[in-house]
Amino acid sequence: AHDVHIIGGGLAGSEAAWQLAEAGLKVRLSEMRGGGDTTPAHETDNLAEMVCSNSFRSDDAESNAVGLLHQEMRRLGSLIMAKADEHRVPAGSALAVDRDLFAKSVSDAVAGHPNIEVVRERVDALPESGLTIVATGPLTGSALAYSIAEATGKDALAFFDAIAPIIHKDSVDMDVAWFQSRWDKGDGKDYLNCPMDKEQYEAFVQALIDGDKTEFKEWEKDTPYFEGCMPIEVMAERGVDTLRHGPMKPVGLDDPRTGRWPYAVVQLRQDNALGTLWNMVGFQTKLKYGAQSEIFRMIPGLKKAEFARLGGIHRNSFIRSPELLDEQLRLKSMPHIRFAGQITGCEGYLESAAVGLMAARFAAAEVKGETFEAPPIETAFGALLGHITGGADADSYQPMNINFGLMPPIEGKMKKANRRKAYTARARPIFADWMADQGIEDALPVAAE
Ligand code: FAD
Repeated sequence: AHDVHIIGGGLAGSEAAWQLAEAGLKVRLSEMRGGGDTTPAHETDNLAEMVCSNSFRSDDAESNAVGLLHQEMRRLGSLIMAKADEHRVPAGSALAVDRDLFAKSVSDAVAGHPNIEVVRERVDALPESGLTIVATGPLTGSALAYSIAEATGKDALAFFDAIAPIIHKDSVDMDVAWFQSRWDKGDGKDYLNCPMDKEQYEAFVQALIDGDKTEFKEWEKDTPYFEGCMPIEVMAERGVDTLRHGPMKPVGLDDPRTGRWPYAVVQLRQDNALGTLWNMVGFQTKLKYGAQSEIFRMIPGLKKAEFARLGGIHRNSFIRSPELLDEQLRLKSMPHIRFAGQITGCEGYLESAAVGLMAARFAAAEVKGETFEAPPIETAFGALLGHITGGADADSYQPMNINFGLMPPIEGKMKKANRRKAYTARARPIFADWMADQGIEDALPVAAE
């Protein structure tokens, strides 16, 4: 018998299991990896596997919102932070870890806790009853995703994120492309423009329509794309002029070779600090890699383009949390179910773990009949939860990393660096007061000062 059932042993589920177990509650943690299933991104059976970069990003709690969230998590006794600190590797002011040692130690801690039973099983439907935390992440198994979509409404679960191709700048033909921002706004070097005449444009649109695409799987087919992430070829199919009025709009861009606006334009935007990589703005696509290289090299100026990364659209399941969840992360229509991690519409390892931590604290209080308030919006935790359960417009809801923009603005004129410090300086005592009000002992009391 368990008090809480957690589905998904990733960053969020592992943290949630630990928090509940430490609060004295019995947890069943269902993780499908290790039980005959996996996701397209995971490579091991470890809990809390980091699927890509090995970094939890900035550890600067004075000037960075992510660093502040690190600190607040440490103050609440986060397992993910404790293990990250233990397996830290040098990375300047960032908190990077040895990913294998990290995930292994989280797995051992969770599996070794007397209050946690880790079950290697896939869950295919939302449980009808019993306190549950769903933390199945951006690659939630498809049957469960179906079940969630059924419970929340067809349009309430998004499935995709979109990636535009990235090009090495030294492969762009600068006799054809030119630097200019539309209407000469901003820095003149912000965009690289590749012009097309009518004939080139129409051939290009046709090629996009005819190009070889990766098929959606059966269950993915009637998935709604979210705003701003529509594949370029789907836009092309909507009508010959759709692209010319959308991402390929030429207005306000004067081709130095003609002195006039071209018929259509492909814009590249700087993608890395060095200025060596540029991304094709608006060109997220399901075209196959071979077709992409071929078709994108039809673009004047990109005949010899070298791609650092081709475009794609990857799975990222998340629900319309601002509409569906209450302030305690409960599904309003089925309040025995909470959501945590990236499926709530936060973004990143750390944010996911943070939402897992909070979901567990809410659930623990519920089991014990205690009250537990969400942290104030001036804190990193409060800002993150505010984004998920309150602040955002449900229709344009997008996954988001923690950032100062999610906190109430600090008024007055000051330098950017000082403003950042003002945010964290405001947050720290508010967080301390909130912890005191909830009766939580500060695991890092020095941070309150
Ligand atoms: P996850 O860590 O994915 O954990 C979910 C768990 O649930 C998994 O273990 C999965 O096996 C399990 N599961 C799923 N469905 C079921 C089911 N039906 N039954 C049982 N178990 C199930 N974030 C960063 O901060 N930096 C990056 O560089 C980065 N790169 C990424 C690259 C890719 C390709 C992807 C997909 C994501 C990336 N992210 C990155 C996002 C990061 O993976 C997530 O923010 C984070 O892992 C989310 O934590 P989570 O606990 O919500 O989900």
